[in-house]
Amino acid sequence: MFTNDCLNVNEKGHLTIGGCDTTELAKEYGTPLYVLDESVIRDTCRAYVNSFKKYYDGNGMPLYASKALSCLELCRIAKDEKLGLDVVSCGELYTALKAGFPTENIHFHGNNKTDEELEMALDNNVGKIVVDNLEELERLNSMAASKNKIANISFRIKPGVDAHTHNFIRTGQIDSKFGFALETGEAYDAVKKAISYDNICLKELHCHIGSQIFDIEPFVTAAEIMMDFIGKIKNELNFVISQLNLGGGFGIMYVNSDTPVPYENYMEKVSEKVKAKAEEYGIPVPFIFIEPGRSIVGEAGITLYKAGAKKTIPNVRTYVSIDGGMTDNIRYALYQSEYTVVNATKADKECTETVTVAGKCCESGDLIQENVKIAETEAGDILAVLSTGAYNYSMASNYNRIPKPAVVMVKDGQARVIVKRETFDDLIKNDI
Ligand SMILES: *Cc1c(COP(=O)(O)O)cnc(C)c1O
Repeated sequence: MFTNDCLNVNEKGHLTIGGCDTTELAKEYGTPLYVLDESVIRDTCRAYVNSFKKYYDGNGMPLYASKALSCLELCRIAKDEKLGLDVVSCGELYTALKAGFPTENIHFHGNNKTDEELEMALDNNVGKIVVDNLEELERLNSMAASKNKIANISFRIKPGVDAHTHNFIRTGQIDSKFGFALETGEAYDAVKKAISYDNICLKELHCHIGSQIFDIEPFVTAAEIMMDFIGKIKNELNFVISQLNLGGGFGIMYVNSDTPVPYENYMEKVSEKVKAKAEEYGIPVPFIFIEPGRSIVGEAGITLYKAGAKKTIPNVRTYVSIDGGMTDNIRYALYQSEYTVVNATKADKECTETVTVAGKCCESGDLIQENVKIAETEAGDILAVLSTGAYNYSMASNYNRIPKPAVVMVKDGQARVIVKRETFDDLIKNDI
């Protein structure tokens, strides 16, 4: 029934997460409330680490893409579980540094890194700066020279595999703002330049083919294309790229029709292809990075709201309004993301009504989900939106001057706050 087995129903008919009654969590910590199950996060981290052990002689490392949910505690857990970290801004890097994250295991991404970002990455000796374009490469080379440093870099490559949907296409030129194109020779020229630059050390090639992907094939195809490029670089430039980063994008279950693949299956198939290609080109088997974000935290999280007014418009629809909305979950407004909504107060009851769950912001488009089948709701019921651990808190805003909700971590029936609810003073602290 539910999207994850950390969720259950107790004898009172209330939804539980990690052994905690969600209606009690709502009472104690207030709503809206983000709740994360620690065991799910750690188990997922371990599944990724173990997949490298099982299928790739441990010759790889998952990096947690922290943009999915960046906060001190998540950085600590990633470190604890022996994952590296992806960051895409000074703010995410700052969070990692404050959490004591080992900087050699941090990759710095972004298609338009500012001087401030490059400088912070260099000064803190991050493991890789993933260079997106030639302008950035040249800027980084001079900046590193002025600091008497060598910048360890990766190149973001567009492999021409587009997997933003359930299907995937292999195209010539994909239209993307990220990275270097392969087929135009742009990527190849960048590699030549990087090799010739004194303050650049090119170690890795990177690609990221999309998000919420359920098929294994596009990952295998991307790995193949990247290995062919690494082979070409070896053959024509006699330069060995020893690391391959295949990005993130592993799908999770938002609704029952989603069909995620066990994460180790990706590694099994990708590793076969990479090993075969390494042999074909007579190059060492590369160290592999993958960058799961959504799949580490997505299913581990739910959001709790209190239901308010219900408005039935005859022959049109019924709205149930909640005490949050696009400020804590903008994904439906942004791209019609599907979610499962449960009446947590009546989780044992039949889903007898169909409603639109609406937020409280001054926007008609502020909806969490339309056409939701749910147990009959009354004002005061706690509604739970499932699989909201990724790209919810991290995309939260203060529109309508609504403070961001707290984040609570649960485990074995215990709960603790990992991010405090914003106060009204937080909202005006930069106002003059
Ligand atoms: C967003 C992103 C990820 C994580 O993607 P998920 O779909 O959350 O797994 C990984 N790598 C890069 C470069 C990204 O931009």
